[in-house]
Amino acid sequence: MQKRKETIHEKPRFNLAEDKAFVLLSELEINKFPICPFSIAERLGCIDILKYTELQSEEMPDPFSFDARNRKIDEYNKTVSLQSQRPRIDAEVRMVRGGNRYIIVYDDRKDNEQRIRWTIAHELGHIVLGHLVEFECTALNRNGLTKEKYGVLEVEAHWFASELLAPTPVLRMFNFEQLVSKNVSLICDISKDAGNKRYRELKRKKDYNEQWGYKTNNEERKIHRNFFEHMLSGEYLFSVYNSACRFDDTAIASELFSECRVCHTCQNFITDGKDSFCGICGTETKPPHLFSPYPKSLEDYMRDCETPEDILKYRDTKSRGKNYYYIKSEGNNKPHFCPICKNHEIEDASKYCLVCGAISQNLCLQEGKSLETAHRYCPACGGETSFKKIYEALPGRFFTEIDLPHEYDDHIEYPYWTFAVVTAAFWGKESNINLYNAMENSIGFYNRDEMLILVENDSCKAIVKENEDYIKTALTDYCLCSKPFRNIEVIVHEVPRN
Ligand SMILES: [Zn+2]
Ligand SMILES: [Zn+2]
Ligand SMILES: [Zn+2]
Ligand SMILES: [Zn+2]
Repeated sequence: MQKRKETIHEKPRFNLAEDKAFVLLSELEINKFPICPFSIAERLGCIDILKYTELQSEEMPDPFSFDARNRKIDEYNKTVSLQSQRPRIDAEVRMVRGGNRYIIVYDDRKDNEQRIRWTIAHELGHIVLGHLVEFECTALNRNGLTKEKYGVLEVEAHWFASELLAPTPVLRMFNFEQLVSKNVSLICDISKDAGNKRYRELKRKKDYNEQWGYKTNNEERKIHRNFFEHMLSGEYLFSVYNSACRFDDTAIASELFSECRVCHTCQNFITDGKDSFCGICGTETKPPHLFSPYPKSLEDYMRDCETPEDILKYRDTKSRGKNYYYIKSEGNNKPHFCPICKNHEIEDASKYCLVCGAISQNLCLQEGKSLETAHRYCPACGGETSFKKIYEALPGRFFTEIDLPHEYDDHIEYPYWTFAVVTAAFWGKESNINLYNAMENSIGFYNRDEMLILVENDSCKAIVKENEDYIKTALTDYCLCSKPFRNIEVIVHEVPRN
């Protein structure tokens, strides 16, 4: 035993911890926030997670002696300076059945889900980094390790947990202004402290490729690809809103709801704390400090609901939210292209499309000021916007129910289509807005090395055909398809109107 302990390295292996986390995320095809360490443990198949209170019984009033050991730690901490204090034990991992299985026991008596999620991820780190096998390092024989060596393993597990729950390749898709510290904790559903720390770590990582936003090894590229749709479509706002809802009725609720509220009429996510009206349906919305995830008062629920289950169903509205189609812009409220004729040469000064004369800026019709392209109603005064009529005339964002012609019955939907579209149009030698235009509302299906692309109309079809090679390159180089696509077929498919 003495000898095995000697093998612990002097410095934490940050790269190893990071790699292990990335391999897990990539192999398990995890593609959305919040990342759940419980389901990762379950899918690994050799780990049981138990609650302290489940183990508690008359014979075992203090399982794993959590309380007894914490009392000792508390006493010790009273005698030393703040820096030398030891952390209390809130979970522990042990190897069982001769090393074939592990159990993680965590203290569930303090009901703080964010802390529990982090703790489980940390214990997973001890397992996948081989700490138990190689170093016999459980908290039980922590006493046998020097403080420094124990610290090295703790830092490694911590680093693993932070890359697992808040992975660099995904968070670096944002620029740093967007990624203010509290967002990290809301997006990833981790504590505010952990989020702040993570934000500082991300800013320190300078060795990242500019275009990709991360080192270009395959695992990281896969993670980026897998999460792309989730991030671009705004689906991650479900996680942001849910994390904020955890703090409903607390002192920080107002700060968190200023990041994300949900319109109680149309479920639109409202991400600007200053907005007074929903930009999609125009309903007035409560300011962050008065906002409640529950659209009605409890008395109203009692009146409307027959059973407690009904009330719960109503309360589930807090987990809802909805993303609406929006005309993509360059960030300065200027659309990439005219939403009517798709001309992309829009001059900054002009309010009208130089080709078709349609209004090409989204303006509040009452106040005349320029608004984000997504708004159908002005979030400040609730008045209609110039884009409202355009949205009413546009097709929906996605093909909803697709009846593929029979000859394509053996095709399945390509899972990373949005990423394929963006990389084909923008990641080549020069960006190709026409191709993006033609493919924005397309959808990809495949069967072995045959790709089938459904587009809106004949002009889209012609553009896609012309750019077949870009698409093939994007699929192999960026989407990391193992085999190149031999053939790309393009068909026009009627898009359902709203
Ligand atoms: Zn630990
Ligand atoms: Zn609304
Ligand atoms: Zn136009
Ligand atoms: Zn207005």
